[in-house]
Amino acid sequence: MNASPVILWFRQDLRLQDNAALHAALARGGPVIPVYIWDEAGEGDWTAGGATKWWLHHSLVALDASLQTRGSRLIVASGDSGEVLSDLITETGAEAVYWNRRYEPAVIARDKIIKADLIAAKIEAKSFNSALLFEPHTIQNKQGKPFQVFTPYWRHCLTLPMAPAVVIRKGDFPAPAEWPASLEISKLKLLPTIKWDGGFYEAWTPGETGAQAQLKRFIAKAMEAYSDQRNTPGIEGTSRLSPHFHFGEIGPRQVWAAVQALSKDSGVFPPNKGSQTFLSEVGWREFAHHLLFHFPQTPTEPLREDFKKFPWAKDKDGALLRAWQRGQTGYPIVDAGMRELWHTGWMHNRVRMVVASFLVKHLRLPWQHGAEWFWDTLVDADLAQNTLGWQWSAGCGADAAPYFRIFAPVTQGERFDGSGEYVRQWVPEIAKLPDKFLHAPWTAPENVREYAKIGGNYPDPVVDHAQAREAALAAFKSLRGDS
Ligand code: FAD
Repeated sequence: MNASPVILWFRQDLRLQDNAALHAALARGGPVIPVYIWDEAGEGDWTAGGATKWWLHHSLVALDASLQTRGSRLIVASGDSGEVLSDLITETGAEAVYWNRRYEPAVIARDKIIKADLIAAKIEAKSFNSALLFEPHTIQNKQGKPFQVFTPYWRHCLTLPMAPAVVIRKGDFPAPAEWPASLEISKLKLLPTIKWDGGFYEAWTPGETGAQAQLKRFIAKAMEAYSDQRNTPGIEGTSRLSPHFHFGEIGPRQVWAAVQALSKDSGVFPPNKGSQTFLSEVGWREFAHHLLFHFPQTPTEPLREDFKKFPWAKDKDGALLRAWQRGQTGYPIVDAGMRELWHTGWMHNRVRMVVASFLVKHLRLPWQHGAEWFWDTLVDADLAQNTLGWQWSAGCGADAAPYFRIFAPVTQGERFDGSGEYVRQWVPEIAKLPDKFLHAPWTAPENVREYAKIGGNYPDPVVDHAQAREAALAAFKSLRGDS
């Protein structure tokens, strides 16, 4: 047992249950001082975007409230993480700093320096894993190299032992005799200054309690049918856990345990096809972190070297990019997705693939532009998963969609939103069109357009699908030198 305080440095692990660093801090004995440091420079080129900042504000409020129920509180600070920790150590007499690891390249580099500095100053510095089932540095293929294809990666992972979720004991956390000074969370100025976040409040409940409620809802209502319904954006067929995962309000070990609990009686795990597919999507999250760790250049550079020469189109005055960002491309499924994103900070995975393919293949604009827009507008913007998603969609990453797979936006709309529920919700200008024309409004006869009162409210397609497809195929072929 130790009487000196330990600083518990919260980062992207904003929960009390299954928190390995918290568990170790409690086991060490002595007062626990929970701290969050807003350190933009420490994130390198990827400081949080607008939507994730909104989430973070509310998640910190929720974490502080949970800590208060345990006789504790969250100390909030802003600035260089190393300096803030060092000042706190001086102020509180702490002799240890514990935290859970993150895996973004700039953060790894920063944390290594902080750990070395703390150890040099004779402070006990310990880091733990609470974010992943399989940490990237522990996984390699038979040749001792990182995996680049998902199926063998995941098959290999599933042969390995998996640590169970960490149980945090009930009751108060030991508090210091005197709390150090703290900023008010609002002083971090994380909330948007423009009126943008109204829809976020309707869609989300940031924080650990919200995450657990979301998991429960998904397991009770949607998991069994997940394999069939996960591609239908008009229904709530997926877990919507992604922002909770990103901020560590829930961890994959907890999700795994919740699914395992369903197998208690039958002994069959996973209990059904839906849960098996769902857990393999959680596996894609692991794979994304594996790739980012081993290929740290990929947030900005294609993994496939030859892709650097891709002949992108010229976008005069940025008009095409703007049409895409604002959901004004004239392709309803694309526009619905981009508007859902703006309004709620989230977009259904099927539609993410469609809009990403449209940007890269129909508009031939660099995938990095799309990744940046997502970074700023997604509440679940995550460097590993966003990078994987964009490189996959562009066809330049690991285990990527082949270049000749060009999603036809009309067919995608008809196939995955046949009833038009999704498009009608997000593109109300065309809601009165019959299903037959909904995904290609320009094909509707004039009298039908008049009846549906479209008027000049909805644009014609910014590019012709057939021509854009040919141009994209030619551009991809030119990379291989066989044009
Ligand atoms: P579910 O279907 O319920 O899946 C459960 C969990 O598995 C998700 O919460 C997520 O953590 C993980 N997951 C699911 N699909 C994927 C996937 N394809 N790749 C990696 N992990 C996955 N996801 C993010 O969390 N942050 C991002 O910034 C992000 N950017 C993306 C960009 C593009 C272009 C694309 C195509 C996908 C992106 N994804 C991203 C992956 C995926 O779209 C989201 O994780 C998913 O839509 C979140 O919804 P859900 O929680 O309901 O997922």
